Amino acid sequence: MVRYIGTAEMAALVGREGPEAFLIRLAGYLRADFRRWTAFDRAPRLATLSPLGVIELMPVSDAGTYAFKFVNGHPGNPRTGRLTVAAFGVLADVATGYPLLVSEMTLLTALRTAATSALAASALARPGSRTLALIGTGAQAEFQALAFKAVNGIEAVRLFDVDAGAMAKARANLEGRGLSVTCAKSVADAVRGADIVTTATADKARAKILTPDLIEPGQHLNAIGGDCPGKTELHVDILRSAAVFVEYEPQTRIEGEIQQMPADFPVTELWRVIAGETPGRTGPDQVTVFDSVGFALEDFSALRCVRDLAGPGPELDLVPDLDDPKDLFGAMLGRGRALDRAA
Ligand code: NAD
Repeated sequence: MVRYIGTAEMAALVGREGPEAFLIRLAGYLRADFRRWTAFDRAPRLATLSPLGVIELMPVSDAGTYAFKFVNGHPGNPRTGRLTVAAFGVLADVATGYPLLVSEMTLLTALRTAATSALAASALARPGSRTLALIGTGAQAEFQALAFKAVNGIEAVRLFDVDAGAMAKARANLEGRGLSVTCAKSVADAVRGADIVTTATADKARAKILTPDLIEPGQHLNAIGGDCPGKTELHVDILRSAAVFVEYEPQTRIEGEIQQMPADFPVTELWRVIAGETPGRTGPDQVTVFDSVGFALEDFSALRCVRDLAGPGPELDLVPDLDDPKDLFGAMLGRGRALDRAA
């Protein structure tokens, strides 16, 4: 039998722990797995592009456990009442190839993306960062705000979205959670004086949400919305004058902000900073960019974290349990069985 965590159990699990405590716990799992980066069999995700979006398969494995996530990205979905990003994932045993866990990953992706953003900021943002600008206040937004509060000590959040309703929603959801939350009048208004800027917009376009004139010395830019070929958020001149950090370089060259740059544009993989091999930020005035697209290792960490937290629970009858593993036909479609069903 395969352990199954559906949307209701995931929400209860995170609710019981508290979102901030869960984000801190998850950041710990991510840090541990980024530190043992070379133990993983890594590959860029397999993306199936269509005019309206993308469907992606994201595999990764260490010597004991294999994980994959199925995830979409359809920026037009909210117009028909659907999420832009929805996902589920699997953990499997490398020794037998058998699945161990099937889990919802829509909520878990928002949590793992936010925890990864916060982990990156703890290495790349100025120490003492207190103000976050959050551009794009859709499904990912509140998770980002809470992760930066819990992990990085952010106290004030300035929201901006072209959709006033989405901004009001985020503000209401963040009320009473110990953050000072304001709605800005423009991107420039939100970004002015912020220590960290998250861009989490969804548009299937080469957007320029942030332009060089808006960026101040020492800011850390956490660009999570540009995560697919033809979909970016930053002006190229920002990238040219910043120190750029990525998750897995071969994948980010295809999908990230740096798809706009030449193939030899210098970037640093985040794991090297987390593992202490390379410095992150090198000065208070340096502009740092985390060009995040989401990498399979983050899903591996997140699935590991919920499996440990959840313990025993509902199971799926996903793989036949046979007395004789060579008699698949007999056990499932043999005379007695087929007659039983017909009766
Ligand atoms: P969403 O559709 O729920 O929200 C996106 C928001 O961006 C909307 O409210 C929209 O009005 C706003 N927006 C669009 N253009 C804008 C602009 N020019 N200025 C200000 N706001 C604008 O999507 P979501 O689930 O919140 O995801 C946001 C983005 O993050 C998507 O592109 C998604 O693919 C990406 N994402 C990345 C990762 C990662 O690991 N890097 C993980 C999850 C999602």
